[in-house]
Amino acid sequence: MLNLVIFGPPGAGKGTQSAKLVEKYGLVHISTGDVLRSEMEKGTPNGILAKGFINNGKLVPDELIIGMLEDKLKNLKDASGVIFDGFPRTTFQAQALKAMLEKLNTGITVMLSITVSDDELIQRLLHRGAQCGRSDDNLETINKRIVVYKTQTAPVFDFYEKEGIAVSVDGSREIDIVFADLCNAVDSKL
Ligand code: AMP
Repeated sequence: MLNLVIFGPPGAGKGTQSAKLVEKYGLVHISTGDVLRSEMEKGTPNGILAKGFINNGKLVPDELIIGMLEDKLKNLKDASGVIFDGFPRTTFQAQALKAMLEKLNTGITVMLSITVSDDELIQRLLHRGAQCGRSDDNLETINKRIVVYKTQTAPVFDFYEKEGIAVSVDGSREIDIVFADLCNAVDSKL
């Protein structure tokens, strides 16, 4: 399997680049943020629980996210690969993902980290908030999410760097230029 983790702060372009990678490499896209927003819309117990964390810019508890991921992985069947978008966000989640994939006799092929300056992230997220009205794309919550990224999520990069599969790409450039770099990183592992 070709399994990718797309990593980076909120607003780095993970969703945009995931869509392009899915199309090029025929991957299944698992975005924990999308799954949580859909649960919130449906008003499920997980959605109701997650809402308070999301709207406060906090991470949803590891147990809830990992349980959700286990369900998604059960339904994979004949997938030729997966792109994990917005997951893992803690070292604990990264360890859990490794164990889950080992049970399926597979693992992460490459971790693609997209870097963008804080100022640009804030501008992008405010713009997205104005366009599509995500409840967590307002200045107060954006600032909290960036702090959470730096304190709780950034160490995930070190986890994959130790595994020798982390690649960092400058995400401040045009979408297609960033995409070309990501594809080079993936192709070098095929
Ligand atoms: P995203 O769409 O990836 O920006 O995620 C939106 C929000 O969902 C995040 O700010 C978190 O509150 C929550 N979330 C998404 N993925 C995770 C995760 N892997 N671990 C914890 N919380 C998550």
